[in-house]
Amino acid sequence: MNNYNLDDGLINWGPTPEIAEYHQGMFRGFLAQSPEQIKKACCDEEGRLVHILSAEHFDLTFLERICEVTNAARRINKLPDAPLKRLLRNKSVLNYFAQPSSRTFLSFSNAESLLGMRREELRDLSTSSAAKGESDRDSLRTHSSYHDALVFRNKCNYFDMFALWTMQTSNRSIPVISGGAGSKEHPTQAILDYYTIRESLDRQIDGKSFAFVGDCLRGRTVRSLAKVLSLHQDIEIYFVAPDKYQIDQETEAYLTQQGVRVTRTTTGLEGIPEMITGAVYMTRIQDEHDKDGEQKRYDPRFIFTEPMLDQLQDPAVLMHPLPKREEIDPRIDYRDDRKIMIWRQMRNGMWARTALFAHIFGVDDKILETYRTCEKVTAPKPL
Ligand code: ASP
Repeated sequence: MNNYNLDDGLINWGPTPEIAEYHQGMFRGFLAQSPEQIKKACCDEEGRLVHILSAEHFDLTFLERICEVTNAARRINKLPDAPLKRLLRNKSVLNYFAQPSSRTFLSFSNAESLLGMRREELRDLSTSSAAKGESDRDSLRTHSSYHDALVFRNKCNYFDMFALWTMQTSNRSIPVISGGAGSKEHPTQAILDYYTIRESLDRQIDGKSFAFVGDCLRGRTVRSLAKVLSLHQDIEIYFVAPDKYQIDQETEAYLTQQGVRVTRTTTGLEGIPEMITGAVYMTRIQDEHDKDGEQKRYDPRFIFTEPMLDQLQDPAVLMHPLPKREEIDPRIDYRDDRKIMIWRQMRNGMWARTALFAHIFGVDDKILETYRTCEKVTAPKPL
């Protein structure tokens, strides 16, 4: 995945081939760094991860901390004096979404609002200077001049590294946060998914089994969450998808090297839910990446049916990053069952992203402190 084709036309490198080639050369030099150097470049001087670009940069200490702050934030938000609202009043953020989004965009926007941040959005690039031929590098530098953080979503797989490189090579670097980069990664979705799993499984993730179903090849949420789960001991992952949507070899090798037992299942979901003790994670076919003439119908063997809900081993849950289409039996929409975690998972996104901003700007301690010292807090509804 790291052998990027910089001439794929997804990034505007500059107005002439010569200028484009010059910038591409500089970028290639940046990419030549080791994964450890890139991770270091995502941290501030104190080692705090501030550019949130890849699940590979997370460790369990970071994730535990975010989960703890997520729980504290959702509780103290109920306090009458709204302490969250005061935390980041002096910060501003641009939500720069160059690809469709509902939940990621809205949950970021709500998280920013909960913390009192000033927020702006840029979603329709036909209204920006991109339409006048401005290079993406210049656009990002402009955004970083006006804001203290940038959340982006982009169809380019390497936009995360591109944004990091632009920040590193300009004199006003602000935290950049990926809300989804092409089909490669969706690190903040992995954080909210991890939080949901951790709460659902009562923090017992070691030794659990998980199934990712649907489009494992182009599902960026699959790749990011699988990497996060691989931080735990004795994890088993089933990738349940037809051959053409199976997990890529690079991700499989990464997981195996991390000690995960990986099984590819290409014949359907039948027989899988009863083996799952963690979560079944459904995904839609990511047909925005289709070339012409591909089969559009979802293969019914990979539909999660109503009886499968009862086959899941306690305390396993059913998840989906949404939007969902035909991959889940519509009857499940009308079942009231604690195993259906999809909508809670979605709502958790707003709180996990609140915790993430608090972490990035170093006010997470204040949230924990307020939680510990407040006298009367309304207990949140259990997940
Ligand atoms: N919302 C998720 C994403 O942006 C999943 C999806 O679109 O299917 O990747």
